[in-house]
Amino acid sequence: MGRAFVYVILGGGVAAGYAALEFTKKGVSPGELCIISEETVPPYERPALSKGYLLPEAPARLPSFHTCVGANEERLTPKWYKEHGIELILGTRVKSVDVRRKTLLTAVGETISYKILIIATGARALKLEEFGVSGSDAENVCYLRDLADANRVVDVMQSCASGNAVVIGGGYIGMECAASLVTNRINVTMVFPEVHCMARLFTPKIASYYEGYYNSKGVRFVKGTVLSSFEIDPIGKVTAVNLRDGSQLPADMVVVGIGIRPNTSLFEGQLTLEKGGIKVNGRMQTSNTSVYAVGDVAAFPVKLFGETRRLEHVDSARKTAKHAVAAIMEPEKTDEFDYLPFFYSRFFTFSWQFYGDNAGEVVHFGDYSGNTIGAYWISKGHLVGSFLEGGTKEEYEALAKTTRLKPAIDDITELERQGLGFAVTV
Ligand code: FAD
Ligand code: NDP
Repeated sequence: MGRAFVYVILGGGVAAGYAALEFTKKGVSPGELCIISEETVPPYERPALSKGYLLPEAPARLPSFHTCVGANEERLTPKWYKEHGIELILGTRVKSVDVRRKTLLTAVGETISYKILIIATGARALKLEEFGVSGSDAENVCYLRDLADANRVVDVMQSCASGNAVVIGGGYIGMECAASLVTNRINVTMVFPEVHCMARLFTPKIASYYEGYYNSKGVRFVKGTVLSSFEIDPIGKVTAVNLRDGSQLPADMVVVGIGIRPNTSLFEGQLTLEKGGIKVNGRMQTSNTSVYAVGDVAAFPVKLFGETRRLEHVDSARKTAKHAVAAIMEPEKTDEFDYLPFFYSRFFTFSWQFYGDNAGEVVHFGDYSGNTIGAYWISKGHLVGSFLEGGTKEEYEALAKTTRLKPAIDDITELERQGLGFAVTV
């Protein structure tokens, strides 16, 4: 025997929180909706974990960053869910799902049934063991995906004041954590296989701008190599990191950010998968019409580019969640999802935004020895992507608007001359 709900959200991360708020806006009745999450706290704004949460002074702590404060909307505290009659089943892992029978089985043996299921299981951090390196369980090796991980980073940081940290990975986690570690007066060396940081998005010129600043803060970059093993002392602490190029780095702590894998395993063989995620249509509906997928786990059609994409960013988690709920609650009023990909990051005093697609030829603009830098991406004669560091709200809005229009670009030299002015005047 178990409980039955009209709507079940599986996962209690960013997308779940935004979906819950949208359900209440669309008139869900008390007792109809539940959220099942392995985490022990209600949905929160995950981006805070690598930024405000790691500050040495006045760090962000719950309940201040429960969703949906990141989009300047209501903050959904446990009390809010109670007042709205939304059941929170926390600290509970779902171990199997039967989409034909419309049931979920939790790790404690409860069967929960639904009429409509929203999959919001997000992703898990890739482990070093998946690359043939053991030692992830050492007490001073940290990953960063959830609150428990963030607490661990804080504890380990506090036990290695003025010590040496090795950051493995030059992506989002690597860049943001390296900055936070420096702010905590820890010496940082970053190790990654590419020729520059954020290789999937940044051009060499953009990367060099940020790397120069990191260098000035004492961060050392070891590029073009990967970790091969750890030196571990008798009490189980890593003391050094061995690299494939034969060198060794002393380490009082290690932070690993080497990418993620979407949590799709409960649905393999039951739903259609694509791009490593669960394939959905423009209504966020999977290959089973009673099941929707949102956030990091969903591979959805990006109309603007005529392609299916799976995005790992908070804005798409928020918006896919809202769209799925609108499609469920007001099907006749809801169009196909039409999304402009949007990514951002903040580290030290920097703050950048990116819109669209980083495909094709790149035109840089701005002052690469100053505070405002930018770039446009031109593919098949159209502007398809844009990047800006240090912009104003109005400038970012102009960039987003222009990128969505995909204007034809006949003269790249002229675009370069106009720089940000092009977006502002379109
Ligand atoms: P998640 O937020 O990961 O939530 C998934 C939830 O599902 C979790 O609660 C998990 O416990 C639960 N779950 C999974 N499987 C099960 C199961 N079997 N049973 C029960 N529960 C389950 N993006 C940006 O755009 N900008 C940023 O600055 C930024 N910063 C970030 C910083 C960090 C440290 C991290 C980790 C991510 C950051 N991101 C950022 C990415 C962004 O947070 C994600 O894109 C977003 O959280 C995805 O939301 P989601 O709801 O799909 O998944
Ligand atoms: P990313 O995919 O951003 O970066 C992973 C990095 O690790 C890449 O540089 C990758 O190189 C490198 N790498 C892969 N394997 C190894 C290895 N064996 N040794 C060393 N480096 C390796 O993932 P992150 O872990 O940084 O971030 C995890 C998730 O969190 C992502 O979904 C990200 O979007 C999200 N996040 C987003 C933020 C934001 O949007 N501001 C902030 C923080 C997290 P290669 O490219 O060659 O594989």
